[in-house]
Amino acid sequence: MKTLDELLRQERFSDADIVRLLGLTDPEDCERLRRAAYDLTTRLVGDLVHYRGILEFSNRCTLNCRYCGIRRDNRELERYDLSLEQLVEGAVWAAENNYGSVCLQAGERRDELFVAFVEECIREIRARTRSERLPDGASITLSLGEQPLETYARWRAAAGEADCMRYLLRMETTNPEIFARLHPDGFAHEKAYASRIQALEDLRTAGFQVGTGGMIGLPGQTLADLCADIRFYQRMDVDMLGMGPYILSRGGDMLDEGMLEQGPLLQLALNMLAVCRLVLRDVNIAAATALQALAEDGREQGIAYGCNIIMPNITPRPVRKRYQLYDNKPCIDEEPTDCRACLEGRIHRMGRRVGWNQWGCSRHFRRRM
Ligand code: SAM
Repeated sequence: MKTLDELLRQERFSDADIVRLLGLTDPEDCERLRRAAYDLTTRLVGDLVHYRGILEFSNRCTLNCRYCGIRRDNRELERYDLSLEQLVEGAVWAAENNYGSVCLQAGERRDELFVAFVEECIREIRARTRSERLPDGASITLSLGEQPLETYARWRAAAGEADCMRYLLRMETTNPEIFARLHPDGFAHEKAYASRIQALEDLRTAGFQVGTGGMIGLPGQTLADLCADIRFYQRMDVDMLGMGPYILSRGGDMLDEGMLEQGPLLQLALNMLAVCRLVLRDVNIAAATALQALAEDGREQGIAYGCNIIMPNITPRPVRKRYQLYDNKPCIDEEPTDCRACLEGRIHRMGRRVGWNQWGCSRHFRRRM
């Protein structure tokens, strides 16, 4: 059998290699994996960490994903929508504070009112975030679930010509049985699984930089499942990944299925990030906020294991509590300004720099274009 160091020097990995790396638990082995992923990150995508200020603009959702605290049937939740002005102001605040990029996230809706609202927001944000420091305005990531191709095309067109539009749609898991168990909604389950894949393909057709990812540590999920997820990301030739640990949610419908213990779950999630870096190489990888629900410095650990993107929460404080996807979600009582200051210090302490006033496009996207 190859030594771990031999394995980590490879550029190609078999499924058995991937499963072995995902399952590392010995602290010295994990440190070797971390080092390999970190070095590859700085070598291939540079030492900048890019921010995407995330605006969680509505917790209304038409779906009932069982893991999620804002699912349709959670009747405890007071629902909210930010107005166009609030959303645009949030994006302008981000641009004035040197964030080159924002992310608009909400529960899933497909009605015309919602589609037109998002279209208008994109136009306004693109127009009103232009400045001397950011002449072409902010880039925008949308995270608004599965939509028909026409909707993706409308949202893409609203931004104009520039390659500034990204979309994050997690596959969640490529294990069809787990996928079906998590998503009790709508059509027959096989169709729901296929329609998620179709949506990812449609996003590419519509001209977005495409990101996907999944939850790590789902009940019943094995290392082989996580390896299959990585192979799926490879096959889809994605530009970005947004992955995080699965965390129990009191607003969800999976309380009796439990979750992995905090320490092993964090290590598994970090291993997954590192292995994705080694296998997918020059994609953007976000250090999910959910990592911070497991450890105070969870996102910094994500950077140390190969992430190069952080998504500081810039949602106005009064509504943050109502976007509780999972328990122990961090930064709920903070203002956008608190997040900005505390994160930059943490990134500098790691010897990295923040990519202020940049879109921070995925190198993979640049290469495939
Ligand atoms: N509705 C859109 C969608 O599904 O893509 C965007 C919002 S959705 C709340 C964003 C992500 O939150 C999901 O892709 C899911 O992976 C994550 N999420 C929801 N509940 C979670 C939980 N209990 N633990 C970890 N992540 C969770």
